[in-house]
Amino acid sequence: MNQLSPLMPAKGVFINNAWRPAASGRVVDVYAPAEGRVFAQIAAGTKPDVDAAVKAARHAVEEGAWSRLTATERGRLLSKLAVAIADHAEELAKLEARDTGKPMKQARADIAAASRYFEFYGGAADKLHGETIPFLAGYFVPTERVPHGVTAHIIPWNYPAQMFGRTIGPALAVGNATVIKPAEDACLTPLRMAELAAEVGFPDGAINIVPGLGEEAGAALSAHPDIDFIAFTGSPEVGILIQTAAAKNHIGCTLELGGKSPHVVFADADFDAAIPVIANTVVQNAGQTCSAGSRLLVERKVYEEVVSRLNARFASLRAGSPEMDLDLGPVINAKQKERVEGFFATAAADDVSVVAEGLVAEGVPAGGFYVPPRVYGPVPRTHMLATQEVFGPVLAVLPFDDEADAIALANGTEFGLMAGIWSTNASRAIRVARKVKAGQVYVNAYGAGGGIELPFGGMKKSGHGREKGFEALYEFSTLKTLIIKHD
Ligand code: NAD
Repeated sequence: MNQLSPLMPAKGVFINNAWRPAASGRVVDVYAPAEGRVFAQIAAGTKPDVDAAVKAARHAVEEGAWSRLTATERGRLLSKLAVAIADHAEELAKLEARDTGKPMKQARADIAAASRYFEFYGGAADKLHGETIPFLAGYFVPTERVPHGVTAHIIPWNYPAQMFGRTIGPALAVGNATVIKPAEDACLTPLRMAELAAEVGFPDGAINIVPGLGEEAGAALSAHPDIDFIAFTGSPEVGILIQTAAAKNHIGCTLELGGKSPHVVFADADFDAAIPVIANTVVQNAGQTCSAGSRLLVERKVYEEVVSRLNARFASLRAGSPEMDLDLGPVINAKQKERVEGFFATAAADDVSVVAEGLVAEGVPAGGFYVPPRVYGPVPRTHMLATQEVFGPVLAVLPFDDEADAIALANGTEFGLMAGIWSTNASRAIRVARKVKAGQVYVNAYGAGGGIELPFGGMKKSGHGREKGFEALYEFSTLKTLIIKHD
């Protein structure tokens, strides 16, 4: 094993605010993507650990201290966790950068976003309320939003810290007790934030974490008969397994499965504003972002101009290690590097041209999983570069002829997560935005400010359900109606 020493040892599984060794006694190696070497280990949680975590959560939500807190008290705890994360921001950012390979500035922004999720949901916890419904004479009918109970959260490796806040923030605000299965490729910041949660006073069992492999810990958690809801972010293939497991237990789930999100650039767009944002949305996090703007649909008459501007922009982009703090880091692991390079090879074999390219910086650590950021164009409409999620820093440019063609092209993939419409003609931008099938559509912007306040989720194969914003409080709660007869 190619490893760095000393290794960060596995902490174990986190149940009732304490670490305990995984029942399997095994660990999983964790690679530093920037160096291609093992730098840490996590516990390999399996079914007995999941059973113990679900039991702890069930106790917390039914009769433990967690169940006795008011909404305001839950909100205060979430707010305290937001502050604790901010107070440990540099430590957490370094851990996140090492674990995922992302540049330090990106890691710092991610930790700030994680803190912001807890701040937002801390404030929202006591703002969720029911209604009263006019009914028959002599009846009083209030509704109440109640927690599902025990919520299971299976999260990916691309934004471990942000995903932790995004998924458990609203679940805890509503009063659920949570069991989290973070991704085996990168999960050290969620493990550390769970400790911070215990320090600020979250009662036993509110937050439980079972690290480990997807097919072991993840499968055991999603199939557990005593969970009440599953929130999943990851690949479409595993999404099917999660939805199937949820169906077998007759419980609900949200699925966030990625995309092939388009930018639609009309000839009258403000290119100076658009091009840097477009480049950033596919380069950020080395393109490993579910909402990456990975297709650029451009009005044919300005194709050459847009490509030449992209060329100028990408020429200066550099991939490097977290400490080099350049435009992007490596991808997460050797398999993901192979996947991206597979797209490069297919494009070359099919004579699809590279029209803009950045570089891997000189002096990156040997063995890291670096790939250069690339733009291909014009990409044939049915080519895999135009239809499949790469999950790497790769942009496909496709020309369109008119507005109807642009809409058809924008809607022409299996996905529907996000879109950006770029035009100075406000009526057209709004018209097109309303016809594009995606959970979020930006006009003259894209992915602004983390969007913590904005409902987020997919249409079509990008999944279903909404995270972020107030909407997540509805997902993580269910409605109870009291029908009260009186004289
Ligand atoms: P994945 O779906 O395998 O992993 C996501 C999470 O699901 C991880 O925590 C993993 O351990 C868990 N998991 C895996 N198998 C499971 C199972 N059988 N039962 C329950 N849980 C299971 O994704 P990946 O392999 O890490 O990445 C592959 C592809 O997924 C990427 O190339 C990308 O297209 C997509 N992806 C999307 C997002 C997103 O934000 N939508 C994030 C990561 C990956």
